[in-house]
Order: sequence, then structure tokens, then C-alpha cells
Amino acid sequence: MPTYQYKCSSCHHSMEAFQKISDPALTLCPACQKETLRRVPTVGLGFQLNGGGWYETGYQKSCCPCGKNESCSTETPAKPASE
Ligand SMILES: [Zn+2]
Repeated sequence: MPTYQYKCSSCHHSMEAFQKISDPALTLCPACQKETLRRVPTVGLGFQLNGGGWYETGYQKSCCPCGKNESCSTETPAKPASE
């Protein structure tokens, strides 16, 4: 079960939640009880770089390295924006 990162846009409380992929996103912040909780997009969720070998072997089979097939048709994942 994947771990999702959440952050409240009202009180900036951050938390993690274990959810199924099919579960709806949480919106109620446990800290301030407002429905301002937002799911933080995580890049490369549940996959790790192992010497770069995933690129040659895994990239061809599924359309994105993380294998989740989410919005990978138009953009390439795993590109940190903080550099
Ligand atoms: Zn809050």
C-alpha cells in the first residue's frame, strides 16, 4: 500500500497516510479540522534507483519508471524540480 504525503494549506500541518490507490484523497486536516488538506505530489513513489539499471530494463515495458502509468504520456517523471 503506497504512502501519500499530505499538507494542510491552512495550518501547514504535514502528515503521511497509508491508502489504497483507489481510495479518495483525504481533505480533512486532523490538526485544524478544516477541509484544506491537500495531497502532495510525490515523484518516484515506491521506486528506488538501483544504479540506473531501471532505465534500460523497466522503461521499455511500462511507460514510466514508476510503473504507475499516471500522467506519463505527456511528461516524464523523476525530474527533481529543486535543482
Ligand atoms: Zn490544518
